[in-house]
Amino acid sequence: MLHYLHLNPEPFETIKIGEKTIEMRLYDEKRRKIKKGDVIEFQNRLNGEKIKAVVMNLYIFKSFEELYSKVDKAKLGYKKDDKASPNDMEQYYSKSDIEKYGAVGIEIKLLKDVTVANLVDAGICPTCFDRENNCCLYGNNKDKMLYENDKFECFLVGKPRAIGHIVISSKAHYKDMMEIPDDLCEEIFVFAKKTMKAIKKTYGSESVYLCTMCDGLMNHFHIQLIPRYDYEKRGSKNFVKERKDYIEDKEKIRQLRLILQK
Ligand SMILES: [Zn+2]
Repeated sequence: MLHYLHLNPEPFETIKIGEKTIEMRLYDEKRRKIKKGDVIEFQNRLNGEKIKAVVMNLYIFKSFEELYSKVDKAKLGYKKDDKASPNDMEQYYSKSDIEKYGAVGIEIKLLKDVTVANLVDAGICPTCFDRENNCCLYGNNKDKMLYENDKFECFLVGKPRAIGHIVISSKAHYKDMMEIPDDLCEEIFVFAKKTMKAIKKTYGSESVYLCTMCDGLMNHFHIQLIPRYDYEKRGSKNFVKERKDYIEDKEKIRQLRLILQK
């Protein structure tokens, strides 16, 4: 979800250069909609300049006093010699509103600096984040997409372990196979069977291996289909074949789509 916040020029600049990493706000209805992994577009009140940042964490307090006592003042945008006081917030919000709603510290990271590792460390699923933010992490893979519906998608892997290495991934976030509902599990695995046959036919592989080994909270459920060709030995080493560069084969993509979209 995208949120919009306005800023005075000084805090805007300190956010832009990455010094200020926690934005303080009244925790009212509008800010209660902000969730970890959302994107905030900050706009400079003076010149209209905009910058996007990702919400990495939220710190919720009863008051700004509590927030100031627990959060590093440099992260709030104060310089070393500045006197940081919760009363500074009273120029923005009334005492009664502060009492009613409390305060929130929104920890942010500039969108341009966000990496997959940052997101995982913050407890944000990179796959979901990428899909919600125009493929900003992994790039657009529409050219590799073979089949898509509202529940799952099936695409060629960008750095494949074999030519024709395909992934099927759920649209909604499930951390592994144990989490997916039975009907979706059934649908994906029946589709995987169809895809394995399509790989074998299209690429002339001898067999196709299937694995799913999502591990960790921030993994996003997917299954992998890896072809084994006649010049390769049978066995589990096929699951860890060295990744190679993806070479686009438009004719094979056309054939696969024809089979899978039927
Ligand atoms: Zn996810």
